Amino acid sequence: MATPPAPSALDARTQIFPTLSPAQINRIRPLGRVRHVDRGEILFDLGQTNIPFFVVLSGSLEVVQPNIEGERPITIHTARSFTGELTMISGHRIFVRGRVLEPGEVLELSSDALRSLIAKDAELSEIFMRAFILRRLELISRGYGNLILLGSRHSAQTLRLREFLTRNGHPYTYVDLDTDKASQELLDRFNVALDEIPVTICGTGTVLRNPTIQKLADCLGFNANVDETQLRDLIIVGAGPSGLAAAVYAASEGLDALLIETESPGGQAASSSKIENYLGFPTGLSGQELASRAITQAEKFGAKMMVARNVLRLECGRRPYKVVLDDGAQLEARSIVIATGAQYNKPKIPNLARFEGQGVYYGATFMESQLCGDDDIIVVGGGNSAGQAAVYMSQTLRRVHMLVRSGQLSDTMSRYLIQRIEQNPAIEIHYRTEIVALEGDAHLERVTWRNNQTGETSTHPIRHVFIMAGASPRTEWLKGCLALDDKGFILTGRDLDGASDKPAWPLARVPQMLETSLPGVFAVGDVRSGNVKRVASAVGEGAIAIHLVHRTLTEL
Ligand SMILES: Cc1cc2nc3c(=O)[nH]c(=O)nc-3n(C[C@H](O)[C@H](O)[C@H](O)COP(=O)(O)OP(=O)(O)OC[C@H]3O[C@@H](n4cnc5c(N)ncnc54)[C@H](O)[C@@H]3O)c2cc1C
Repeated sequence: MATPPAPSALDARTQIFPTLSPAQINRIRPLGRVRHVDRGEILFDLGQTNIPFFVVLSGSLEVVQPNIEGERPITIHTARSFTGELTMISGHRIFVRGRVLEPGEVLELSSDALRSLIAKDAELSEIFMRAFILRRLELISRGYGNLILLGSRHSAQTLRLREFLTRNGHPYTYVDLDTDKASQELLDRFNVALDEIPVTICGTGTVLRNPTIQKLADCLGFNANVDETQLRDLIIVGAGPSGLAAAVYAASEGLDALLIETESPGGQAASSSKIENYLGFPTGLSGQELASRAITQAEKFGAKMMVARNVLRLECGRRPYKVVLDDGAQLEARSIVIATGAQYNKPKIPNLARFEGQGVYYGATFMESQLCGDDDIIVVGGGNSAGQAAVYMSQTLRRVHMLVRSGQLSDTMSRYLIQRIEQNPAIEIHYRTEIVALEGDAHLERVTWRNNQTGETSTHPIRHVFIMAGASPRTEWLKGCLALDDKGFILTGRDLDGASDKPAWPLARVPQMLETSLPGVFAVGDVRSGNVKRVASAVGEGAIAIHLVHRTLTEL
């Protein structure tokens, strides 16, 4: 298939900052109001949420980014161009200021009016969405966010925060304290001690020392636009592929849906560097790309999302159901989709927790690959995700050791991966082998593994281990509410027939496909008993569940 030519710089500029035709502006007019603006007037400012959208009719408007050193210029909008980037869709706090440069007239639309325009007008929707996405990418690539992160590659929390920001598509400036001498001055200015690293500076000056992702999300206002008191049609717990699909279909079909995610959207798929078997992407796409497209799509249709909020409990005694969050908030919904997926089991290796993020990782993306330089690495596991990680990392490294506990690669590993692994001279597979010791000071420095067949152990100067072996369902928060199988996965539909320890089913009808032992509560994706552990099936189940949710809402 022919690859389309890369857009010229001029084409790219036209797509990021397009001008609208008079006919297009006339289609927008009925939804907004025309008003006169004077020089120096601020139309939107740092930290505001749900700001209006402006089309410049005459005069001009400059967009700048205020930071601790003043203002950096971003762009100037002249007649027929429009303001906004992805925060117009997400309703999150904005990180720029819009100020009138030359007096004139603007056409102003509320954020709700813009959303309904996007839903109704396909041509304008495409122009706006493309511009918003490209503007966000431009901000990310320039590091123009409302956040400075000062961190070190020796700090696990730095990696965690960077992953969190990247997965949420949030632009930020990263200062590497290992190489940037001038940054000490900045730390001194805010009286920050070395053991308080990483440090973040939000907006125009709030300093957080070694913050959790929850604190950082609050400081950036990621969840500020979510009304926690509202009774919703649907709450989706977990924003992996299945939860994101449920959010897209729910919102596009008019349900009032809230998606709650304990970390960042993307789930397990976001830790994959390249998904090659997802329909419609013959050259593959990264889990991160898939997730960020899905978030924009869900928010475009009006879904709301909370990140860095863990659901601790389901109050399942009566409808509407309640989900209880880690900060004590209780949110109500008429129906629930559980999409909490699975997570890697942590093998019982002494010191494992000590080296997490400092030599031990559970994802293999560009970010982790940067930390490895050209060091040799170990990938633990014989399934699809381990295979994918080994192939991806072998592109930049001399040697990838794959440690597989059994005598063969998993039966479920895709054929194309097995061939790539077997034909790759950089990947060495060690069957019937497991890690028995990890050693180092601040960072992992040596790994000892044992061949369980021969009993032979050997120690290797390896500083990076990727663990991708066996996953367990994330159902600990559902205790007592739902029927689970013997491994803890959620039973649904006809599979409930044989379940011994299940709550009494209160309705005359039988549970629908994907419906759990509680009416109106559905389970989709990897967390569901019998699910095929693939992105496509997770997405499919998320979509189907919404069709079934509609039916149960009519029962109330
Ligand atoms: C490295 C790797 C590579 C892979 N490659 C492929 C591939 O190439 N092709 C393929 O088809 N499949 C692949 N898979 C499998 C695929 O990613 C999964 O099948 C898919 O992600 C499952 O989606 P899910 O939404 O059901 O669950 P998950 O992706 O596990 O997402 C669940 C989400 O729920 C959140 N969550 C959990 N508990 C809570 C809670 N209490 N409160 C709030 N949120 C919570 C989690 O943080 C997570 O974001 C890969 C998996 C991995 C790990």
